[in-house]
Amino acid sequence: MQRDYYEVLSVAKDAGPDEIKKAYRKLAMKYHPDKNPGDKGAEESFKEVAEAYDVLHDQQKRQRYDRFGHQGVKGGSDGFSGFGVDLGDALRTFMSEGFGDLFGAGRGARGSRVRRGKDLQVRLRLTLEDVAAGVEKKIKLKKAVVCDSCDGSGGASGDARMTCLQCHGAGEVRQVSQSLFGQFVNIATCPRCHGDGQILKEPCKKCGGDGRTRGESVVAVDIPAGVTSGNYITVRGEGDVGPNGGPSGDVIILIEELEHESFERHGDDVLYSLPLSFAQVSLGAEVEVPTLGGRVKLQVPAGTQANKILRMKHKGIPHLSDSGRGDQLVRVVVWTPTRLDAREKKLLNELAQSENFKPPSDGKGFLGRFKDAIM
Ligand SMILES: [Zn+2]
Ligand SMILES: [Zn+2]
Repeated sequence: MQRDYYEVLSVAKDAGPDEIKKAYRKLAMKYHPDKNPGDKGAEESFKEVAEAYDVLHDQQKRQRYDRFGHQGVKGGSDGFSGFGVDLGDALRTFMSEGFGDLFGAGRGARGSRVRRGKDLQVRLRLTLEDVAAGVEKKIKLKKAVVCDSCDGSGGASGDARMTCLQCHGAGEVRQVSQSLFGQFVNIATCPRCHGDGQILKEPCKKCGGDGRTRGESVVAVDIPAGVTSGNYITVRGEGDVGPNGGPSGDVIILIEELEHESFERHGDDVLYSLPLSFAQVSLGAEVEVPTLGGRVKLQVPAGTQANKILRMKHKGIPHLSDSGRGDQLVRVVVWTPTRLDAREKKLLNELAQSENFKPPSDGKGFLGRFKDAIM
């Protein structure tokens, strides 16, 4: 029994095209064979998702499906064969939606004159302050840009073309090699015309016919608050321009977070160690604590034990996925004086005699308090 296509994509019956596309994109990424190598279940899900999308994103097919169900979209010239989708078809659907480049596959098929430029990957180092606040960064790129002499066409005299001299228009070349097992014939895309079968009559002097030269550009990118090391941010169309006027690749920014000298990140919480004197933890104190958003007052209750963790709500790092933010955890470090004068020694000796200064002898009550160390 075949599953309902709306159910497969987890969308409502009246979902709009954008919603359907979004749902498809999410699921196709999840079940993509590159992400689930050898997983038959994921492959089946991927096909199922691709089939559902093929029908629901096409207005005519969707109408037929709504009226007649699965029977309405099976068979016929533009329907499916009835044996489900083959993986190759599913992958092509996926690629043709322009998501394929996420997995390193190029757009632009063999034999097409339009070739897309390369994606460029850059690393971007961010301080924890940048991560907490979000930041706009300008990134300077060395990349292939449109040749200003030929305007990207690659031709000295416009776009005039002739049959490729290497493959004589076939777009592919044969290479024959001998081996122990016999003769091998290898058919490859013609390196001269890249499968077009045609080459420029007279290549541009400046770029040699490629339509591109090396250049620089500055790309401005908004880094959302809450990113973390290993996150990628893709800026569409800012990578290498394609040869002969082809579309540009993307810039893929890999986030690297710099270590902070005072704060330690734990998810979206930040941990800060606060040194306090014995007197402060005993009597209680109001102290100013640095946070990623500036200094903030913190009340330390009287009788706070060493290593107690005080929680400063919403002083951590914003969540990337929603509007909330993490906390700042303040670990109390009791600072022990290393030098004492005679008067101080006398006072401390006196205090040490007091019952209140004696730690619990069995440690039971004290150990129990680790459970609620975080408040
Ligand atoms: Zn040129
Ligand atoms: Zn050729």
